Amino acid sequence: MADYDFDVLVIGSGPGGYVAAIRAAQLGLKTACAESRATLGGTCLNVGCIPSKALLHASELFDEAASGKLAKLGVKIDGMSLDLDAMHAQRIDAVKQLTGGIEYLFKKNKVEWLKGHAAFESADTVKIGDRTVRAKHIVIATGSSVTPLPGVEIYQQVVVDSTGALELPKVPGHLVVIGGGVIGLELGSVWRRVGAKVTVVEFLDQILPGMDAEVRKESNKIFKKQGMELRLSTKVTKVERSGEGAVLTVEPSAGGAAETIEADVVLVAIGRRANTDGLALDKAGLTVNKRGQIEIDHDFGTSVPGIWAIGDVVPGPMLAHKAEDEGIAVAENIAGLTGIVNHDVIPSVVYTTPEIAGVGLTEEQAKERGPIKVGKFPMLANSRAKTNHEPDGFVKIVADADSDRVLGVWIIATLAGTMIAQAAQAMEFGATSEDIAYTCHAHPTHSEAIKEAAMAVTGKPIHI
Ligand code: FAD
Ligand code: NAD
Repeated sequence: MADYDFDVLVIGSGPGGYVAAIRAAQLGLKTACAESRATLGGTCLNVGCIPSKALLHASELFDEAASGKLAKLGVKIDGMSLDLDAMHAQRIDAVKQLTGGIEYLFKKNKVEWLKGHAAFESADTVKIGDRTVRAKHIVIATGSSVTPLPGVEIYQQVVVDSTGALELPKVPGHLVVIGGGVIGLELGSVWRRVGAKVTVVEFLDQILPGMDAEVRKESNKIFKKQGMELRLSTKVTKVERSGEGAVLTVEPSAGGAAETIEADVVLVAIGRRANTDGLALDKAGLTVNKRGQIEIDHDFGTSVPGIWAIGDVVPGPMLAHKAEDEGIAVAENIAGLTGIVNHDVIPSVVYTTPEIAGVGLTEEQAKERGPIKVGKFPMLANSRAKTNHEPDGFVKIVADADSDRVLGVWIIATLAGTMIAQAAQAMEFGATSEDIAYTCHAHPTHSEAIKEAAMAVTGKPIHI
């Protein structure tokens, strides 16, 4: 290894970085991972996927009990109440266990954790705290952080980002969310379920950009039915402190009369941007694109040989599983193997109730490419969903009109996040809708709705 300290240095220990580091070590490469946070696991484990799901799960159970859903099933709970401290404690515990798990995996695989902020000194040399190391390959996996809203200071008391919204010490009377994307709807759902009035202010004319139009419209209806107020085509022009809370000034996105909304807590969730500040990319000969991301080729190589990049810091959906798959692939490419990620088949899931999931092309995108067939099946007609009192949603399958190959699958259902894996696998194997329709699905399961939607592509579902 000549005078290199490591074969591979990964910067950042999120789902992209820690997976890349472990895979590189498994492949026999001497590997280190630099991380400035006090614990490993990045955004996802510390302040993202995991703590949000801990609160989503607990708040859903609370809502089922408080709203009378459980009573309808014969489960009566007298004198129930919210113990928010306990809800937070189980969130913190979940994070602790999982971040500790990565530390264990690093030790097991002999990945050295270099603690501190990493900055390039040159294309193969990086300074982490007091230590300077040379590595033959460097993987940038520094992730992303919250996009600020110009003029709105996030001070984590009344005006918070997703991290602050995970830690609110009491249920706000009125939570106003700026941004009707994934974070806004997931964390908005958490606080609505435990008693907050929730208003979502969305700049565009519909929530959940990037998803299938019919899914966006139906989700909108469901969230409204649950009691969320959705202010579409509306922009926030000002957020001012007012007493213990804040006052937002909003107006139509296209311009028009302004009005004010009073809030106890304001959550800014208008997207995330790549983390490259403080990396001294220029010393490595690297630049960023207009969106502040590091451009890569098909193999995850940057414009500088020996420097690679993956995860939220590169273009593409900002999702943990996408980052993880890229982590495996980049390590395999560094080791001389062939690491590939099929970016056409990356599922995405919104973990609300019901869950909202999709993979592949939306109906709109597919139509632009050529003739298509669409099959739909409502969850109301699925025996298991009906029995469980979970009537909302549908499965929609978009297939190529000529070849019948599945191009996209969209699901709103309580178990959509789990069901979408089957669709992704079918698409990865190049399945047709007929392949799915003739696959035996266990009864009674929510997944039968996927089979029926596939049967509907050719107009022959059984249960509608
Ligand atoms: P990150 O996880 O952001 O990790 C990057 C790490 O690099 C950080 O720990 C950071 O401290 C470190 N770092 C940065 N710069 C340096 C430096 N110079 N030196 C040393 N260390 C550095 N995705 C999903 O797929 N499912 C979900 O359910 C989901 N829920 C989410 C909920 C929330 C509230 C948020 C905010 C995000 C959520 N995401 C979810 C998105 C997911 O967290 C990200 O896509 C994922 O974490 C990206 O992984 P990454 O490895 O690219 O970067
Ligand atoms: P997002 O891109 O999902 O949604 C942001 C929303 O804010 C959009 O609807 C956008 O139109 C709106 N917006 C932008 N500027 C606005 C403004 N000035 N006023 C009002 N609305 C405005 O971003 P997010 O919800 O912040 O999430 C960030 C990232 O984290 C996403 O890319 C997502 O993939 C990831 N994430 C994923 C999950 C999951 O997979 N379940 C959960 C949370 C976060």
